[in-house]
Amino acid sequence: MNADSIQTAAVIGAGTMGHGVAQVLAMAGITTRLFDINQAGIDNGLSKIAANLAKGVARGKVTAEDEAAANARLSGTTDMQAAIAGVDVVIEAVPEIMDLKKKIFTELGDSLDANVLLATNTSSLPIAEIASAARFPERVTGMHFFNPVHIMKLVEVVKTDVSSNEAIATSMDLARRFGKDPILVKDSPGFASSRLGLVIGLEAMRMFESGVASAEDIDKAMVLGYGFPMGPLKLTDLVGLDVRLSIAEYLSGEIGAHFAPPQILRDMVERGDLGKKSGQGFYDWSE
Ligand code: NAD
Repeated sequence: MNADSIQTAAVIGAGTMGHGVAQVLAMAGITTRLFDINQAGIDNGLSKIAANLAKGVARGKVTAEDEAAANARLSGTTDMQAAIAGVDVVIEAVPEIMDLKKKIFTELGDSLDANVLLATNTSSLPIAEIASAARFPERVTGMHFFNPVHIMKLVEVVKTDVSSNEAIATSMDLARRFGKDPILVKDSPGFASSRLGLVIGLEAMRMFESGVASAEDIDKAMVLGYGFPMGPLKLTDLVGLDVRLSIAEYLSGEIGAHFAPPQILRDMVERGDLGKKSGQGFYDWSE
C-alpha cells in the first residue's frame, strides 16, 4: 500500500461527493471506476465531471490533453464486483446511513486483499464502526472531502484505534497526490471540521433567533471581521438545514448540550425551509 503506486480505484456512489472524488482520482492519473446502484446516477456523475473539466480548460486551469486523459481514465458500472476488480483503493461516498455503509464495507472487505486501502467519505459517522464490518479493518480510514471536491483543498484523514500506520500514510499521501492539503484527525464525533463549523453555525442561528442582527449582518461579522470566505448562515443554507439538524442532533448526544439544535432550526426544517435546495433558508434563494 503506497500512494505513488496506486493505479486503479473504485468510487462507490456517484452523487455530489462521489463524482467529485472520481474526478480528482482521474486527474491524478488513476484509472477510476464509478459505481452506483442506478445508471442515471453514473451518467449524471460522469457528465458533471466532463463539464467541470471543460470549464477548467476554458479558464486555463486544465490543459486540453489533461482533460482528454482524465475523461479516458473514467468509466461507470452498476456492477459492484466489476467496479472493484483489481483496484488498489476504494473510496466510498454513499448516503450517510450506517447500515448501508457497513453492508458495503462487508462486501469490499470480503472481496479485496488486505493491501487494498478502503476509505469512507462519511462526514460524521464513526469510522471504527464502519471499519468493523470489513475484513482487515486496519486498512480502513476516513477520507473526508469537501464540496466541490475538485476545488476545496482540505481532506480530513481520520484514524481509528485500529487503522494501520500504513493505511494512514497512504491516505495522507494520496490526498497530497490530488493536490490537497490533508489534516490528520482522531476518529471522534464530528472530526475537526464538522464539529468546529457547526458550533459557529448553531451560535449564529441562536443570535438570529434572538434578534441580535439580521442574517446578512451576522454573516458580514464573520466575513469582514474574521476573514471567513462565507458567513455561517449562508453556509448553512448551502449545506442544507436538514443536514445540519441531523449532525447537531448526533453531536449533542455525543459531545454535549452546546450542540443542541436551536428551535429556529427545527422549525425551519419542519416548514421545509432547507436552504438553497428548497429555495428558502436564512436567505431567499427562489431566484
Ligand atoms: P448524494 O446523495 O449526492 O449521493 C449518494 C449516491 O450514492 C447517489 O448517487 C446514490 O444513488 C448512491 N447510492 C445509494 N445507495 C447506494 C449503494 N448501495 N451503492 C452505491 N451507491 C449508492 O450524497 P453525497 O452528498 O455525495 O454524500 C455522500 C457521502 O459523503 C455521505 O456520507 C456524506 O455525509 C458525505 N459528505 C457529503 C458532503 C456534501 O457536502 N454533500 C461533504 C462531505 C462528505
